[in-house]
Amino acid sequence: MTAIQTGGPEYDARIRRAERLAAQHFFASEFLDFYKHIAAFQKSLRASIAASSGAKSQSTAPVEMHAPLDLTVLLPHFRGFLSTLEQHAPPALAKSAQQMSLLPSDSWIASLEAYWQHAGKYDQQVGAFAQFLARAFLQPYAEFRALLLPRPPIVVTTKICPLCGARPLSGVLRVEGDGGKRFLLCSFCFQEWEFRRILCPTCGEEAEAKLPVYIAEQLPHIRVEACDTCKFYLQTVDLTKSPLSISPKTATPSPWWMIWPQFRSPCGPMRRAIPGCSRTSWARDLGEHG
Ligand SMILES: [Zn+2]
Ligand SMILES: [Zn+2]
Repeated sequence: MTAIQTGGPEYDARIRRAERLAAQHFFASEFLDFYKHIAAFQKSLRASIAASSGAKSQSTAPVEMHAPLDLTVLLPHFRGFLSTLEQHAPPALAKSAQQMSLLPSDSWIASLEAYWQHAGKYDQQVGAFAQFLARAFLQPYAEFRALLLPRPPIVVTTKICPLCGARPLSGVLRVEGDGGKRFLLCSFCFQEWEFRRILCPTCGEEAEAKLPVYIAEQLPHIRVEACDTCKFYLQTVDLTKSPLSISPKTATPSPWWMIWPQFRSPCGPMRRAIPGCSRTSWARDLGEHG
């Protein structure tokens, strides 16, 4: 079993980042502290999933992302997950976890399977807390399963994850030749896929003049890629600007997004474009895109 399969070092990096941000931004420390507990739980669950997968034969490997859940691996951990939430989540979410813990396991299975069918794609169909419980619990499973699946050949630019169908969490620019190549990072299984540089991932706008980019002086490696046509934007980690080798998964402006991208933050991913909405002052980048 490799470190990539267990995901241990990556979860450790996410936890360290949450600790660093909590020390810098007191106003967000409650959520970041909660995120740390979730990430620690997800790390342990991912290791169990990887161990179980290693013990099974290749013939049982999934052939597609939304193949049925392996409940024999997942279910024994669900009560511990609910207990983590009861102890560390904000009060309303903790109460929701406590109510779920009182239900029979048949209800847990129904809830997890219902979410899994449409995971990442139609998240708004269930209530926010029910969605969070299933999403945060199943995310390590989705991430592990995505690693096992063969990459489909990309013949056209697709706005949703080619592996699981979820929307992007953020963009990533990687060095290629003299410029950067653009990828989108999946909000559910955390895999990347290539995406055209001058194209809105929400509405398909292609006119460069309608696709402004905003960059803050304090965060030169974060780009807010907006669209004047649909008014949505996506934040992008620009690895061509960062002197450090950082992982896009740990460089997203808030680790909180990784478990709840629909969180009602005015600066959430794929939100209506409100440049300047955060405590950071965003300036329109008048330079070329590429
Ligand atoms: Zn995905
Ligand atoms: Zn657009």
